Amino acid sequence: MSRIVLASSNPGKLKEFGALLAESGLEVIPQASLGIEDAEETGLTFVENALLKARHAALASGLPALADDSGLCVDHLQGAPGLYSARYSGGHGDAAANNAKLLRELDGVPTAQRGAFFICVLVLLRHANDPAPLIAEGRWHGQILTEGRGTGGFGYNPVFLPEGYSQSVAEMDDALKNQLSHRGQALALLHDRLREMHHA
Ligand code: IMP
Repeated sequence: MSRIVLASSNPGKLKEFGALLAESGLEVIPQASLGIEDAEETGLTFVENALLKARHAALASGLPALADDSGLCVDHLQGAPGLYSARYSGGHGDAAANNAKLLRELDGVPTAQRGAFFICVLVLLRHANDPAPLIAEGRWHGQILTEGRGTGGFGYNPVFLPEGYSQSVAEMDDALKNQLSHRGQALALLHDRLREMHHA
């Protein structure tokens, strides 16, 4: 089985990506297990940051590499929190503070102007100088609620109401979330692209 490095140390992602890539005959190795540190995310877009992370991991390991970057973009805030989704309120990964800040920023904004989407970009580089990476993007559209609902999952789940549903993401079960989400969509696309490549 060929090996591929995952430019993330998040155990949830390792499991999800590991299962998907096993079907394509690839064994996923987290970069931390090879002593590779996180890349600096100096890009101005999700795709740039995913590319930087994948290239860093491919260069350091000499192996193919997969990276993802994701976040929440709110229309009324010109795409914020965007690249800064994890640390919108200052400290990294304080979801309660991030949600509170987002609700404050949108205080008084009517429902019709509360549109937002989650985005996930996946980049697979076959080697550090690969000029033609596989790129898969998923977007999950919805709106920002006026207060948080539910406790499931992480991040902005309680304040995001997906289009066509009456539950927040934090009120959905995992199976439904994975089927609809930005990450689920991007993974499905990457899967198709890998299949096409194998059959080309
Ligand atoms: P990262 O791609 O793991 O760095 O995620 C960036 C940030 O985007 C997370 O810390 C969350 O704040 C937010 N985010 C990304 N995907 C989701 C999701 O599915 N639910 C809730 N928040 C998310």
